[in-house]
Amino acid sequence: MAMSTKLSSFRLPPLPTIGEIIKLYNLRAEKQLSQNFLLDMRLTDKIVRQAGSLRNAHVCEVGPGPGGLTRSILNAGAADLLVVEKDTRFIPGLKLLSEAAPGRVRIVHGDILTYRMDQGFPSHIAKTWVDGPPDLHVIGNLPFSVSTPLIIKWLESMANRSGPFVFGRTRLTLTFQKEVAERLTASTGSRQRSRLSIMAQYLCTVKNCFTIPGRAFVPKPDVDVGVVHFTPLARPQIQQPFKLVEKLVRNVFQFRRKRCCRGIEMLFPATGRLEMTEELLCRADVDPTLRPAELTIPHFRALADAYSQLCAENQGLIAYDFREELKEKRRGRRHHGGGEVPQHRGL
Ligand code: SAM
Repeated sequence: MAMSTKLSSFRLPPLPTIGEIIKLYNLRAEKQLSQNFLLDMRLTDKIVRQAGSLRNAHVCEVGPGPGGLTRSILNAGAADLLVVEKDTRFIPGLKLLSEAAPGRVRIVHGDILTYRMDQGFPSHIAKTWVDGPPDLHVIGNLPFSVSTPLIIKWLESMANRSGPFVFGRTRLTLTFQKEVAERLTASTGSRQRSRLSIMAQYLCTVKNCFTIPGRAFVPKPDVDVGVVHFTPLARPQIQQPFKLVEKLVRNVFQFRRKRCCRGIEMLFPATGRLEMTEELLCRADVDPTLRPAELTIPHFRALADAYSQLCAENQGLIAYDFREELKEKRRGRRHHGGGEVPQHRGL
């Protein structure tokens, strides 16, 4: 009995529906800002359930808009909900919600790409990295143009334990265009296996929870939407700096239909390129004929470790970018009137 009284105290009092809020505050979706709203509370409740128990939790909701998902988060029992919204038009509606849940909602008018989430929550909620995740969740239904750069930024923050991850292994529940959700979770050998699969999976357990058809949104986007849940791993599967891993993975996948050695070659200056590639593959014990999508995370770990060793042995290698070398060659050709191409200095 006491339990049910407690549960009901989390629930919001009767409020205008999200549809009514949109009309009341004249919140027409801005196509330029890719605003697509979720008005069906069964769907917003389902997204929120993917995060796990929110009872008494701290939550950051990114892009609350008219507040559908926000209501579900509050109804799930979040004690401290920080919402970060870029578009001022939504602030009055969010204030109404905050009055209905006294002391539980904090509103930030700002851009999540620059917002300092490390300063948004009290330090006492932090857990060490090897402990379980903290009682802090990040949840959001953002425009696709924001969610992809944001997850790339947050994967780097995860590796460096900054931003939302100064509090420990903070869990994320975010929406993406369906194809991006599939790439984030693609397994070895699958058609969707890409840079994003490796970068996400070496750092986290990633789960593609479910797909929301485009028609569930108002207005309807041209694509379907995937809900993805991320839990940072206590020990990342690759123990090298994020930038090094990112460079390796970017190079490997630039020729995705070719053998993996083709992309790996581009990590090295033209002088000695083939020998260095052979040396790297040999040290990592990776079959050069495998296609990029066939490489497992342990393959990437071995490649990253071997590449890091080679960088330690060859000054300047980590900074080498084949595109710069190409530019230099082109400049040389122009300077010499199409004659001999100047030799690269090597490492
Ligand atoms: N969460 C609401 C829902 O599910 O109905 C709104 C979703 S709408 C796709 C995305 C929301 O994110 C909009 O309210 C938009 O103004 C907001 N937004 C877009 N870019 C943002 C950014 N960089 N920082 C914070 N909010 C942003």
